[in-house]
Amino acid sequence: MITISGLQCRACGAALPTPTSPTVKCEYCDAMYVVSRPAAAGAAATLGTSDAPGALWVPMRVNPRGAHEFLIDVIASTPHVSLEFVRALGGAKMTSSGVPTWVFTVQIKGGFTCLSGIREVRQVQRKIGNNIVTENVEEMRWTPFSGQIRTSRVLVGRAGDVRSDAVARTLRGVKSLTKVIDRGTPWEPPSAPLTAREAWKNEVAGLADAERDAATHQLIQGDVYKNVQYSVETSWQPTALVVEVGHFAVDRYVFDVVALSKMPEMLGGGPPPVDQALVARHNELRNVMARAGQKVTSFTIAAAAAATGVVLLAWFVSNSPGGGGFAVAVLCLGIGGLGIGGRQPYIAARDAKERAIDEARRNDGSVDEARVAAVLEAKQRAASQY
Ligand SMILES: [Zn+2]
Repeated sequence: MITISGLQCRACGAALPTPTSPTVKCEYCDAMYVVSRPAAAGAAATLGTSDAPGALWVPMRVNPRGAHEFLIDVIASTPHVSLEFVRALGGAKMTSSGVPTWVFTVQIKGGFTCLSGIREVRQVQRKIGNNIVTENVEEMRWTPFSGQIRTSRVLVGRAGDVRSDAVARTLRGVKSLTKVIDRGTPWEPPSAPLTAREAWKNEVAGLADAERDAATHQLIQGDVYKNVQYSVETSWQPTALVVEVGHFAVDRYVFDVVALSKMPEMLGGGPPPVDQALVARHNELRNVMARAGQKVTSFTIAAAAAATGVVLLAWFVSNSPGGGGFAVAVLCLGIGGLGIGGRQPYIAARDAKERAIDEARRNDGSVDEARVAAVLEAKQRAASQY
């Protein structure tokens, strides 16, 4: 491949292929780089440096209407949410802004030495009194080990404010960060609370060390290792990823939506207001249902106890001489008493329980219906804006 970009791999020194997207991979050692091209056409691609990071703008992958409808669905599914608020959300027009985060391409190369330990079990014979006892003694055998690491990673760093932290978290969760970066277009370097160098020092250098340690761990054979000495060089190039975030404001609430893929995600914004009347009605019905349930339960327990008592009494009496008739009488009396004294209140309690369940179900149904209507209304309002 003819290279016209003149970029060199920091890990192996080979010429990098001409970038066709913001990410470029060394064909020899797989090291990954993010290149930024100044907006002026024809200018050469460059790798960011700690003092002059590149910058890319990453647009949302859904249109404002899609983001708005997603938000309405999420907010409407909050338990006991104020439906008035859901309807008002339909009138909030999306504004968007770029939230900067730092992305670092990192190349780790070099060697390490350590002591690798293998667990060994040895049998030792000991004399205790007149007996010879065989014991298993576990010993660690340490042998020197050395290896070479060459690895490359794309790591995300926070740029220092709440929104940037949230975007960084989302970026760390995506399946392919490379795909997200590749959708970026050259952008002006943003001003972020933390510079690339600070973000690296605060957080990302530690993440890179963890990657180095993980790569080392994979190479070392044996059960355990210690005294790891590195002669490793870590080079890094920062790029500001300016991620488009949609904002929706209603009253004093602001919700942020990010769409790095076709599936939008909520970034932040406190929980929406709940409807206190809905909460009160829900709690009241739940209490009525609980009380009715308790009544039925206590009747069932009382009936079971009475029946057991009657059976036990009958058994005692029938086992004493000449008590057979008496036993049958007591049994009939017991059953009769239960039928008159216990049955009617029991049926009443059971009916009350069923009525309470029905009522709660009807209430849930009407709340769901009202919610569906509010969502529909909010979405129609939203759609009319775009
Ligand atoms: Zn290379």
